[in-house]
Amino acid sequence: MLDIQKIRADFPILNCTVNGKPLIYFDNGATSQKPQVVIDAISNYYKEINANIHRGVHTLSQLATDAYEVSRGKVQQHINAKHSHEVIFTSGTTQGINLVASSFTALIKAGDEIMVSALEHHSNIVPWQFLCERTGATLVVIPMNDKGELIMEEYDRLLSEKTKIVAVNHISNALGTINPIEEIIAKAHHVGAAVLIDGAQATPHLRPDVQALDCDFYVFSGHKICGPTGVGILYGKEAWLNQLPPYMGGGEMIKEVTFEKTTYADLPHKFEAGTPNIADGIALGTAIDYLNGIGFENIQKQEKELLAYATAKLLEIEGLKIYGTSENKTSVVSFNIEGIHPYDIGTIIDKLGVAVRTGHHCTQPIMNYFNIPGTVRASFSFYNTKEEIDIFVDSVKKAKTMLS
Ligand code: PMP
Repeated sequence: MLDIQKIRADFPILNCTVNGKPLIYFDNGATSQKPQVVIDAISNYYKEINANIHRGVHTLSQLATDAYEVSRGKVQQHINAKHSHEVIFTSGTTQGINLVASSFTALIKAGDEIMVSALEHHSNIVPWQFLCERTGATLVVIPMNDKGELIMEEYDRLLSEKTKIVAVNHISNALGTINPIEEIIAKAHHVGAAVLIDGAQATPHLRPDVQALDCDFYVFSGHKICGPTGVGILYGKEAWLNQLPPYMGGGEMIKEVTFEKTTYADLPHKFEAGTPNIADGIALGTAIDYLNGIGFENIQKQEKELLAYATAKLLEIEGLKIYGTSENKTSVVSFNIEGIHPYDIGTIIDKLGVAVRTGHHCTQPIMNYFNIPGTVRASFSFYNTKEEIDIFVDSVKKAKTMLS
């Protein structure tokens, strides 16, 4: 059993008031809150070892380099990558996907197919559209059903030797659906396609094992897993990262530069041009330690309870419809109340101290599928409580009364 009150004390912001009310933070899908240890890791870096890495012979530079590389090692262990050089620091999920989509250009020709799913965040759609525009490849979309699940028979039908890469999320940010990525990966490999998994919404809830999954690329963001903004991870299989050309040119990513020809550094530096986000990269390692200290089994148990509790209570409200009804989902409830715009609900409950996300959640194709402008999305983390859900549901009821 988790001691939630003890855990909550680790997060200074959870003590705040908003609009005169205690903060109830249910926008964890957008970004998580940060425990004090992560905040300390950032400020300690600047107070004690701030220096540029991989460059200086001086002591601070070596300390900073060591701390940064220790963090890379923590990520490697956490996701069970075979080599630490398969772990590339990025600025976040978006950059990770753009990196792969951009570098993949070299391997794609007109007539090839790039496959995404109907459940993707815009950041796992638009970079692939860029790739298609550059190369003449076609974007193919795995459709979904009314529960917000991918239609796997359609996936089987769409997959062919023309498919060069399949890019899907592990968990949908708008609906919470957990996708059958093991099956998606195995089937894609059967036709020779690579697979990129967008793990932005999965990594807050589970520990991906990239070797067991056998995915070619796995990307995620630090800020959704109790780490800082501005840092993320691209995992790539060594063979793929060696085959792909670099994404950005600059310092750190080269072996030798002449005006005639430049040779590139070995992994991981080949994909890490310029001075990286050192402090936040180090603090990401601290965040991973923190989450593992709580334990992902405990996290899942707590979040599952919160999801069941919130779903049942919300469904008591007349006219409320939940989008994303797969049995296989994480702690996200996306809903609307008949005749009321989601934005209006969000605005009123904010006045009552409750933070939720309203809008299309960067998933306009999902909203178009349901023919709605957006939803109210409450996304729960392990540090949330049933008492908070009670207040949230009461606030939604008040908003409904005011807006009806
Ligand atoms: N993919 C998914 C599924 C997401 O939820 C998000 C963040 N909302 C992203 C990608 C983009 O992540 P970031 O903005 O951290 O780059």
